[in-house]
Amino acid sequence: MNCKQTYKLLSDFIDKELPIETYDKIKNHLAICPHCHAFSDTLKMTIKLSQRQKFVIIPKEVHCRLIKFLKEHLDID
Ligand SMILES: [Zn+2]
Repeated sequence: MNCKQTYKLLSDFIDKELPIETYDKIKNHLAICPHCHAFSDTLKMTIKLSQRQKFVIIPKEVHCRLIKFLKEHLDID
């Protein structure tokens, strides 16, 4: 397993969607390669953050326009 292969498989590795042999190879590579180790930590954190954010934040201006649009077109208050 080299760095390039590790990078390619890393998201599957984090999701544990790999055959056990491949999983172990990546795990071994991460243990000896500081670059891939750091990359995997960053990826894990990004995945965690994106999972936590369950709703999309709409900018206020867009929100106002959306409400205005809905009121005009759907007849709601
Ligand atoms: Zn590496």
